[in-house]
Amino acid sequence: MMSREKVALVSGGNRGLGLEICRQLAESGYRVYLASRDIHAGHEAVREIGSESVKAVKLDVTVQSDVDALVDYLQEDSGYLDVLINNAGIMIDSAMNRSASIRDADIEVVEQSFKVNTLAPIRLINAMLPLMARVDQARIVNISSGMGQLSDMGGQYPGYRLSKTALNAVTRIFAAELDPAKFLVNAVCPGWVRTDMGGEQADLSVEEGADTPVWLATSNEVTSTGGYYRQRKSIDW
Ligand code: NAP
Repeated sequence: MMSREKVALVSGGNRGLGLEICRQLAESGYRVYLASRDIHAGHEAVREIGSESVKAVKLDVTVQSDVDALVDYLQEDSGYLDVLINNAGIMIDSAMNRSASIRDADIEVVEQSFKVNTLAPIRLINAMLPLMARVDQARIVNISSGMGQLSDMGGQYPGYRLSKTALNAVTRIFAAELDPAKFLVNAVCPGWVRTDMGGEQADLSVEEGADTPVWLATSNEVTSTGGYYRQRKSIDW
């Protein structure tokens, strides 16, 4: 019997880590939905990857009607989902020449960070659960950050840090509620990666940064839920 094709959805797939995660998933034999809020940027990214297995879909992760429309589309197009990668994220604390200090924190910036980095993943996971419930074992990978790690918390970037700490909690809560035999829910710090967000000085290439997220999404070595990883190793929260 032919084995069933595995299907993945990646938010923020049009550039940076998301694009590279889509590329690596396609290389690993997955059918990939590359989601982006600007569909043209999504089509451009699909062209750049150049694989028949990757399809662009429209998704602003903060817009419920986009999420609903995507669920309807996936019901028709694939009918199930093996992997959801919550990758879309923003770091806007130091935008508009503000310092990144918590002492200058603009609460609206903190709120916006939560909307994209924390609340949108909750929305997307809940929307996709019915499609993921149709496979034997689904995987959810939340792209977090060491900047949200309580055990190594530093100053600056309160919106980003708090929203990623909360995303880690989201990971733990879903892992606690979902049957671990059917759903693996894990968080990952990709490391400091050369993207628009990470900047040119960052240590890692996108290929290196995408490695652990893709490993969590695909590898048979990964059997547990509710973990936090960097470079394929469990790390403290
Ligand atoms: P990036 O180059 O800035 O890309 C961010 C992606 O998120 C873009 O595709 C962007 O889409 C998308 N996005 C933002 N808001 C969105 C929204 N409302 N709806 C849909 N998509 C949205 O960042 P990156 O470095 O690849 O980061 C990817 C993830 O890794 C983020 O969660 C980030 O926090 C995390 N991370 C990155 C690093 C690093 O060093 N780079 C380190 C730790 C964690 P547009 O193109 O439309 O803006």
